[in-house]
Formats: sequence, C-alpha cells, structure tokens
Amino acid sequence: MLNNKIATVTGAGRGMGEAIARTLSAKGAAVVVSDIDGAAAETVATSICDGGGKAVGLRIDVSSEDDAARLAETAVQEFGGLDILVNNAGISTTKLFPETTKQDMERIIGVNLIGAFLCAQAAVRHMLPNGSGRIINIASLSGQRGGIGRSAYGSSKAGLELLTKVMSVELAAKGVLVNNVAPGAIATQMAVEQHDTKTREAYHYLIPQRRYGTPEEVAFMVAFLASDEASHVSGTTVNVDGGFLSAGLMFERE
Ligand code: ADP
Repeated sequence: MLNNKIATVTGAGRGMGEAIARTLSAKGAAVVVSDIDGAAAETVATSICDGGGKAVGLRIDVSSEDDAARLAETAVQEFGGLDILVNNAGISTTKLFPETTKQDMERIIGVNLIGAFLCAQAAVRHMLPNGSGRIINIASLSGQRGGIGRSAYGSSKAGLELLTKVMSVELAAKGVLVNNVAPGAIATQMAVEQHDTKTREAYHYLIPQRRYGTPEEVAFMVAFLASDEASHVSGTTVNVDGGFLSAGLMFERE
C-alpha cells in the first residue's frame, strides 16, 4: 500500500505515534521516527528495523523551526525524499478555564498547532517541487466540541483543523493533500492508566461502539489517507471515535 513511500512521523516514541510509525512501515514505507524523547524514537526505529522495515530514529522538538527543517531533511538524506508527514506530537492539560494560564495556552498551542505548522511548512518545501505529498494532522474530538478543562488543548486542535483546511485549499492543486484524523477515546497506555473506573464506564456508555479505540485503528486510517487510494480526499477530518460524535441521547441500551 505504501511501498517506496517515505514518511516522517512526529511524537512517534510511544502511544499513537508509535502505532502510526509501525503501521506505515508494515505497509511498506520507510519511516523517520521522531520524538522529543530521542531515546524512545531510537527504540521504536530499531525495533522496526529488527522486524525487517526501514526506519531511523531522530530527536525532534516540533516547536523548534530548526528541528522541523531537520526532520524533513533527514527523510531526504536517509531515504531520498519525503512523501508523507504525520503531525502527531502533542501535549495536553486538563484545567478549568479560570485556572488556565497564559503559559498553558502558549505551551500547548506552541506544540500542537505551531509545531504542526512548522513541520508541515518544512515538509511542503520538499513536496511542492515533486508535485505530490500527503500531510495528515492528528486532531481531536476536543477540537470539535467544548470539553470541560479543554481551553488550551481544544483550542490548539480546533486551530489545527482550520490550518488543515487552509493548507488543503492552497496546496491540493499542487499535488499535496492535507487531512485530519481525529481520534476519540483511544486506549493508549496513558489513557488506560489515567482514566479511573468511573471515567472508563462513562466513555463506554457514551461511545456507541461501547469501547475505546486502539492506537492501531487510528493508524490504519492515517495509512489509508497516506495511500494512493485516498487520491481525492483533501481538507477533511475523519473521526475515528466508534460513533461518539454522531450519538444523540442514548437512554436505552440493548
Ligand atoms: P498519545 O497517548 O496520544 O499517544 P502521548 O503523550 O503518549 O499521547 O504521545 C505524544 C508523543 O509526543 C510523546 O511521545 C511525546 O514525547 C511527544 N512529544 C511531546 N511534545 C513534543 C514536542 N515538542 N516535539 C516532539 N514530540 C513531542
């Protein structure tokens, strides 16, 4: 599906980003596995190589313009080009609006929105001369609905969705397709560890499919949007949420 494609993934040292990097590799892509945690990125890359895939690990802070440029350049130097960027790196906080600080807003928007912007801009510089490329931004349902405590995180993800639309409008005719994947409640190690029983039960109740998603289920959608099969999909958001956002009142359950 992705044979001979070259991909960069940010925040790929663990969780969803790791699943995305592994899935893109399993489908044939060479992958630059990047994370602010360089050791974690190296570990994932080594494991991909041990399994017969092509990968390199790289320490990248997406909020640094120099690092964003280095990410794209590494793909070109190591594998000879850049076809796919997945902007997955993210940080989060849950604080009520009155307690949210200016620093919270700047820090979270700085990584989740401006970091994605920087990595995309650096990637597009390599993609435009080829007249082709795919950028997949990992958005969030928190960017589409007001969640308690989500001032900073939700704003960053809503901004990312709008940035995707602008990029898609400007770049689609030039061969670069930009889309969002918005995960719902995903059972990454962090979520599983952080959510108490009450939270888990609430999610199971609110998700029509009655379970969390898996990181791989997000990764498969990313892989599809990165593939030649998704050749007429641009500027959209695909929710991978088990039906969560479509649900209305659900008083009766079977
Ligand atoms: P999820 O559960 O959604 O996968 P995680 O917090 O586990 O979320 O993963 C986010 C990844 O993004 C982590 O590996 C983290 O180290 C990485 N990350 C966080 N901030 C940055 C940054 N500024 N630059 C690059 N990677 C980052």
